[in-house]
Amino acid sequence: MNSKRKVLVIGLDGFSPELMLSLTKRGVMRTVGGLLKKGAWGTLLSSCPPITGPAWVSFATGKNPGKHGVFDFVKPEKSLSRLRIVSSRDIVGTTFYELLERAGKKCVLINLPISHPPRLKEGVVIASLTSPSPESNYPRWIRSRVPELKEYRIAPNSSLLLRGKRKEYVRDIRELEAVRFRVAARALKEVEWDFFFLLFSGTDLVQHVLYDKLLEGSQDEVVREALSLYSDIDSYINELLRMVPKETITILMSDHGFKAFKGIFYVNEWLRQRDYLKAKVREEEEAPFTLFPESKKATRSLPGFAAKLAFTLMKTPLRRLSPVGMRLLGRLGFRISASMEVDVRRSRALMPTTEAMGLYINDDERFEDGIVSAEEARSLKEELLESLREVKIGGGEPAFKEVLDGLKLYRGRMARMGPDIVFRLGNYGVRKSIYPGTLWRGTPPSAIEHEEEGIIIAFGEGISAKRIRASIMDIAPTVLEIMGVTPPPDLDGRAIPQIVG
Ligand SMILES: [Zn+2]
Repeated sequence: MNSKRKVLVIGLDGFSPELMLSLTKRGVMRTVGGLLKKGAWGTLLSSCPPITGPAWVSFATGKNPGKHGVFDFVKPEKSLSRLRIVSSRDIVGTTFYELLERAGKKCVLINLPISHPPRLKEGVVIASLTSPSPESNYPRWIRSRVPELKEYRIAPNSSLLLRGKRKEYVRDIRELEAVRFRVAARALKEVEWDFFFLLFSGTDLVQHVLYDKLLEGSQDEVVREALSLYSDIDSYINELLRMVPKETITILMSDHGFKAFKGIFYVNEWLRQRDYLKAKVREEEEAPFTLFPESKKATRSLPGFAAKLAFTLMKTPLRRLSPVGMRLLGRLGFRISASMEVDVRRSRALMPTTEAMGLYINDDERFEDGIVSAEEARSLKEELLESLREVKIGGGEPAFKEVLDGLKLYRGRMARMGPDIVFRLGNYGVRKSIYPGTLWRGTPPSAIEHEEEGIIIAFGEGISAKRIRASIMDIAPTVLEIMGVTPPPDLDGRAIPQIVG
């Protein structure tokens, strides 16, 4: 394609096809609704697991995690008990924006997860989720060129959510995104660019709390506040589109979708009950136990008295809780579970984080304190794959849609560093927490997690209204081709024909 073309990518984190269609139909997102009529659009398949960190790295590299080496927001540092946050240094290989820069193109990246420290020399990189601070912006002169950066934030005030102030929390996210938009609008005008990337994270944050309610079209005041976030973002998209030159190709996309699950399966507790994993009691100062609402009565009472009581009790170590207190909670419809944590040095297999959506075998080849020999690890994996595929919960439903062997799922020389077993979720989400005796539970409270299918809408000169079904790994070669740079042969993604022609 024409090498003079510019590309604008606007990301809406976690925006699902269902929510997009619902909000455009209800008139909450009129700009997006209009784009659906004139552009090519469809579903964009996320990485496996469909988690923000690895998904955006698959976007940036056009490769599967077996090649780029990012499987989670964290990475075991020679031990499954030492997890450190990943940075752009952990990305194996070259990103497409580096290739663009080598071809003389100017790139601007605003809030691209795992883009710090900057891998661009000439371009502009504004802080994202894994940056050390909101001031981690590159290069230094960007602060004077974009004064709006003074107010720029990466994350909302989550203490509002913890204190139950959900409406204020959503409003805080709206303010954060308003600043992000002003930063982007200023950068579009003041900075020279050929490729421009901007991600709105607020959609993901709000959906983790309200996804089911947003889909239901609830008239709750918190939901109404959240809907305003979507109409804000819709108007920001409209303004950005009016600012870019006519020959720009624009791609609107998300990194994964969302789903309200029927319940939660506690993977590490399943391993503990079968003796693959040992747990230890948490330190007293950390939340020592959790209350599970077991009946409708408990949910009804949650906002008031019970919530207050639960909060007080959360701070009370379990052994100090009186039998009277236990009985009282039981009558209110709650069950108490002590929360334990994985004793890594005594465990043969474990799920290190909820986001991992998979298991690592604690082998002594990869991990210094591993307790499983290489030979044992192979048979242990087979044994686990077989029994996990058989797990039925709820009314006899399989706990997972699929249980995959990591070495078959991932291709590339980093595949061995990822999880040995990866879950594809069906009707149940997974959590790493251990509440002895609780293998799974149904909702409430809601179990909202990421899902595989995100969205893509592409429009601009030469793109007609067609349907797309593509993978997040296809974006890198697509952008390269639009901008006249030949994609390297080792990419897993392919340029999307409905976009590049
Ligand atoms: Zn995400």
